[in-house]
Amino acid sequence: MDKPQTYDVLVIGSGIAGLSFALELADSFSVAVVTKKGQADSATSYAQGGIAAAIGPEDSIELHYEDTTSAGAGLCNPEVVKIVAEEGPAKIEQLMDWGTSFTRGDKGELELGREGGHRVSRIVHYADFTGREVERALLERVRQHKNINLMENKLAVDVITDRHLSASSRKPSKRCYGAYVFNPETKKVDMIRSRAVLLASGGMGCVWKYTTNPSIATGDGVAISWRAGARIANLEFMQFHPTALYKAGNKSQFFLISEAVRGFGAILYNHREERFMKGVHELEELAPRDVVARAIDNELVKWGMGHVWLDVTNLPADKVRDRFPMIYSTLLEQYNIDITKDPIPVSPAAHYQCGGVITDLNAQTTIERLYAAGEVAQTGLHGANRLASNSLLEAVVFASRAASAVKKTLLENKGECLPDIPHWDDSGTYDPEEWILISYDRQEIRQLMRSYVGILRSDHRLKRAELRLELLTREIEDYWQRTVVSPELVELRNMAQVAKLVVHCAMMRKESRGLHYTTDYPDRDDIFGARDTII
Ligand SMILES: Cc1cc2nc3c(=O)[nH]c(=O)nc-3n(C[C@H](O)[C@H](O)[C@H](O)COP(=O)(O)OP(=O)(O)OC[C@H]3O[C@@H](n4cnc5c(N)ncnc54)[C@H](O)[C@@H]3O)c2cc1C
Repeated sequence: MDKPQTYDVLVIGSGIAGLSFALELADSFSVAVVTKKGQADSATSYAQGGIAAAIGPEDSIELHYEDTTSAGAGLCNPEVVKIVAEEGPAKIEQLMDWGTSFTRGDKGELELGREGGHRVSRIVHYADFTGREVERALLERVRQHKNINLMENKLAVDVITDRHLSASSRKPSKRCYGAYVFNPETKKVDMIRSRAVLLASGGMGCVWKYTTNPSIATGDGVAISWRAGARIANLEFMQFHPTALYKAGNKSQFFLISEAVRGFGAILYNHREERFMKGVHELEELAPRDVVARAIDNELVKWGMGHVWLDVTNLPADKVRDRFPMIYSTLLEQYNIDITKDPIPVSPAAHYQCGGVITDLNAQTTIERLYAAGEVAQTGLHGANRLASNSLLEAVVFASRAASAVKKTLLENKGECLPDIPHWDDSGTYDPEEWILISYDRQEIRQLMRSYVGILRSDHRLKRAELRLELLTREIEDYWQRTVVSPELVELRNMAQVAKLVVHCAMMRKESRGLHYTTDYPDRDDIFGARDTII
């Protein structure tokens, strides 16, 4: 067993939330960042459209606030929306100070894109690969900082809380002391002790069969927090991106065609060449994502088709190539689609988790010293539906708030000692030959979430999902107790647990609102429904 490592602060995840938080604290504290795959393996690296911030001449904090709350369908926390809209412009400056480049117009001003649900152009971007640029800049900065130890291929299995301590060291209130982390070299679970932990582990798109998310998005943060006893909310609000590149066959990760493409003037039509968004919403193709995704889903079901078409061939080809160089070249080189000449086949795919681990205005979860920021957190910004490009912004705003809160707490508690923490209980001895079962279970979970907990839900479908997940989680838990720890098993267990939590939240909401639509309760219920679903 390796000697426990001790840091002031432990960060789980190396996307925009984890890295920006680490940078804010590293001048004053020792910081460890663990990330379960490569440094840049994050949803952040995939973000295309950009970051929303009220900085344009025709924009204002109030407009950004209104667009966010309007998409959120009555469930946004007004205080949080105000904070994010107000603090957004300064965070763009900070990202630039850290070395991020954004696309500029002829006069050197930041070029602003437009996306669904935004009434003005508001999206700061770097061509169509904003996330990759942000991740590059932050990682470069983090690597240069002597107080940050960035550790790749280290998967956090659980956070350490009082329940892991001996009875005499336990505090009556729950507190976090670090995390148990899988070490791929020794194939053992090590302990990293810290005075505060930030969960910045991203989303859970991979719990559904078709997703735009990278393979890291298995809901680990929510599962870890839930096991630790933190409060979780609003998991029924999974955003399905309306326009992921449709690929026949068994491919699970769908390449995203950014919302900004519709903002640029792309149109949607079905196989009968009908522009079906006309008459569905006044903003037509620029309607909020849930409206567009449901309209597409409706077309697919109505006509029994696998996809609809997204078309930019009506726009000047040179402008399309200039504005979307990454989408243009990826589709041409990998899929043989020239978007300046051919329409793009698209269908919805699981994209963004609006709910998550409940946090307060300082990103503090309901467990002392455990903070959460980024997609894993439920701050109250998105309500029942996220406005496009608000997530990178939320991540950087709340990572910064978490950093301020952690700094204050650690300075106030200078000289504190961490309790003795037992090593990970390594009693599982069974080393299964049937690894294939893990992969089958994983596929089964993803398929059933797609079939029964997708864009369109009903009590009957949710009940089916619940029964099947009950059986699966029991089997997986039994396996977990007997088997040596492996990253595959940790992820499978997390996926099964969060899938169950999603179904649980979805069953609790007896109405349709934002991203949650059920045929049994098709209307919004502002008397009983206007509240978060809290577990
Ligand atoms: C294709 C795509 C396009 C998008 N476009 C936009 C956009 O234009 N604008 C916008 O605002 N948002 C966009 N989003 C959403 C946005 O990218 C994410 O919400 C945001 O990047 C999340 O940042 P994060 O730091 O919370 O998590 P991530 O960037 O996902 O990082 C999570 C990190 O946690 C690590 N991790 C996870 N579990 C563990 C574990 N158990 N142990 C250790 N490490 C772990 C991962 O390896 C990763 O490093 C897009 C998302 C996708 C998938």
